[in-house]
Amino acid sequence: MEYPHLDLPPNELAHFRQINEEFANKALDVTYNYLRDQHYLRTKGYKLTQDKNGSQTYQRTCPKSSFEEYLMTGVCETTIEELSYGIYTATTQDLRTVFALTFKEDFLDAAILQTCETQTEEDPGHWFGIKYARLQLHSIFHARDTVFSELSGTRKDAKGLRTLFQVRHTIDIPQLPPFPHIVRFDHDMGWLFSELPDGRVQFTIIGHLDPHGKMPAWVFNKMTPKKHASSCTMFSELMRLRRLVEAPRVDAHAVSDDSPKRCTMCTHITKHGKYCRCCGQITCKKCILIVSQPIQVTLDRVDPTKHLKHPMDEAIYCKACFKSPPRLIGSHSISLSKKSEGGELENTRKFIKSSSTDYALVSSSHSSSTTSRQNHSSFASSGRG
Ligand SMILES: [Zn+2]
Ligand SMILES: [Zn+2]
Repeated sequence: MEYPHLDLPPNELAHFRQINEEFANKALDVTYNYLRDQHYLRTKGYKLTQDKNGSQTYQRTCPKSSFEEYLMTGVCETTIEELSYGIYTATTQDLRTVFALTFKEDFLDAAILQTCETQTEEDPGHWFGIKYARLQLHSIFHARDTVFSELSGTRKDAKGLRTLFQVRHTIDIPQLPPFPHIVRFDHDMGWLFSELPDGRVQFTIIGHLDPHGKMPAWVFNKMTPKKHASSCTMFSELMRLRRLVEAPRVDAHAVSDDSPKRCTMCTHITKHGKYCRCCGQITCKKCILIVSQPIQVTLDRVDPTKHLKHPMDEAIYCKACFKSPPRLIGSHSISLSKKSEGGELENTRKFIKSSSTDYALVSSSHSSSTTSRQNHSSFASSGRG
């Protein structure tokens, strides 16, 4: 569906930008402090509420709300360059792809409403503008949505290590009033990715979210850590998954016939082989990876007041394409490091080299999404909220 293109005046934008900037500075400060001293969070009133799959969740009471502030952190097996490619979104299609990969079955829709600043040669992670997101925060409550200003960019610490940040702040605008059956939520959240001396990346998700509506605070406070239990894996895989989704597709019908085939990955003979949407090679069911992604069409026919689920498509890929996507897509993948003499080509080569490292493949989250997709028509009934 289409959302209004905003044209907010400069003074309003400057106001939102300043709020984002202040939050980014606070979030960077917290991140640098606990990276230096692990006890820092305890001195600031944060309590560890979950330690799972390599990521920790801390929560603390919020002086202005019964919804707690939270901070999630963990180390990802990826690099700043990969994450910069993974999270930078300049178009609505980019945003839908990345939100579908990060929020999985909770993703309903997203759009860019106004673009004010984009990436620069010095900072390929830089962006400022207004976005819209619709999410299913909890399966038994109404869908939530929000209009927010977003600022992202890269900062260096005293040692020259980079932190990529993306901060979001909910704003009220009359141009896009709330839809019926969708509750508007408020949030002030930051996603930070700090380069560690060993080249890996420490992620931090920090901030506050008030879901509004009828969701009790104790439900939300308890559910939040669970929602983020797989963040380490998700951020580690994000760049590869995005490259798969954005790669040109092979038409599966053009290459399919019924005879038994040999799996190109493990050499198993299979009658029910699947064709990889990326390379077209036949793959047995053990060697596939299923990736959910939004259908990239304009949904003119859908009633925006009722439409709660962005139509999703599940595409099958082989593990070889996941580990080493066939080509570099997008122009925003230029290296964040200082420009080398070889210019962009040199950086591109470096990028491909760094992304061919072999990662453990965690496919359980992908296959489990098959079942959750089946309750596709779970429209909100009255009484939820
Ligand atoms: Zn196989
Ligand atoms: Zn493939």
